Amino acid sequence: MFQGQYGQGNKFLSCYQQLKGGVFVVMKDGQTLLLPPYNLHLTFSIGGSIICGYEVEAIEFFPVMISRLDVEIEFLDNQYQNESDRRHEHGLNLESLLDGLESTLLRRGNDEIKGKVVVAWITNISTIKEAFQKAEGYEDRACDIWERFLKDTKITQCPSCSGNSRPFKDHMMSQHVAIIQPQRLGVKKRARPQELRVKTRKKARRI
Ligand SMILES: [Zn+2]
Repeated sequence: MFQGQYGQGNKFLSCYQQLKGGVFVVMKDGQTLLLPPYNLHLTFSIGGSIICGYEVEAIEFFPVMISRLDVEIEFLDNQYQNESDRRHEHGLNLESLLDGLESTLLRRGNDEIKGKVVVAWITNISTIKEAFQKAEGYEDRACDIWERFLKDTKITQCPSCSGNSRPFKDHMMSQHVAIIQPQRLGVKKRARPQELRVKTRKKARRI
């Protein structure tokens, strides 16, 4: 049926037999299919019809979206050959990520999801840093959102680092947020020269 509609040379037809675990769903008038984020899918019409696709961002899925940012980066890198177009699209992608971050972290309640966002951010920081480098100019907004969240957070202990993580606000900003904007480490008022030297030593040892 698909072959009849889209022809023999279709990309999907040439690779679908190598895909595993997939299902075909035939939908009728008035039905809606909800797909969680990053579910690989293909939608096509088997007769003359109109297909509507809506993207809904649910706060519950936001930690997943952070942890699959690598997929988005790779997609945008492959999709846009022109550098300024690519940079622009990476910027739009970051804007949407920051909108999600802001509405998830700065909304009342949902402490469990906020905890998951903190973990997802820390765990995926190298990908996040890469995303900021590809767009440029979004670091301030990200740091601002984290600062506003950390001001009132109930989290007292870093979920990733054992020990030496109090007070959590300063620890999170200097170790897990400022990494997207390294110059912040040098301008932070509370970072005394002694503390900076310790950080530099730690980094050197890791290398
Ligand atoms: Zn930590």
